[in-house]
Amino acid sequence: MSKPSTEDRFWSKVLVVESCWEWIGYRNPNGYGTFRGLLPSGYAYELGRGPIPDGMTIDHLCRNRGCVNPDHLEAVPLAENMSRGQCVSSVNLRKTHCNNGHEFTPENTYTSKYGRCCKACVLARQRKRYHANLDRSRERCRLRYQAKRLHSKEGV
Ligand SMILES: [Zn+2]
Ligand SMILES: [Zn+2]
Repeated sequence: MSKPSTEDRFWSKVLVVESCWEWIGYRNPNGYGTFRGLLPSGYAYELGRGPIPDGMTIDHLCRNRGCVNPDHLEAVPLAENMSRGQCVSSVNLRKTHCNNGHEFTPENTYTSKYGRCCKACVLARQRKRYHANLDRSRERCRLRYQAKRLHSKEGV
């Protein structure tokens, strides 16, 4: 008899209720489920859809927080990554495009406390930040490498 895999153990804690797949495994005192330190919805998303993009969080299209059906999950930009820059206040409902000219289609619009946000702009900003971090860590590596070479030369 083989030991059940992590994936099997995950799905054994899921109850399929019509179209929503309910997480019935461990929940922390705040009412959020966890599986191996992750949100079950995040784990299910990775199993069913692939890795969660950097800076994204999992949103439930079905509004059922306990649901882990990958078809009901969508990766959306983290709410704290939103800023007024990408958003048009709800007062300005007549605006059909963001400040950078992207159209506010249902697919490209994310509603936050700032109003309607343009997903394309938020993603572009996140990508830029990601690459800036990458450049910075590469630079750090390079400096460390040079310092090491310098030391070894002195040591000879
Ligand atoms: Zn659902
Ligand atoms: Zn935009």
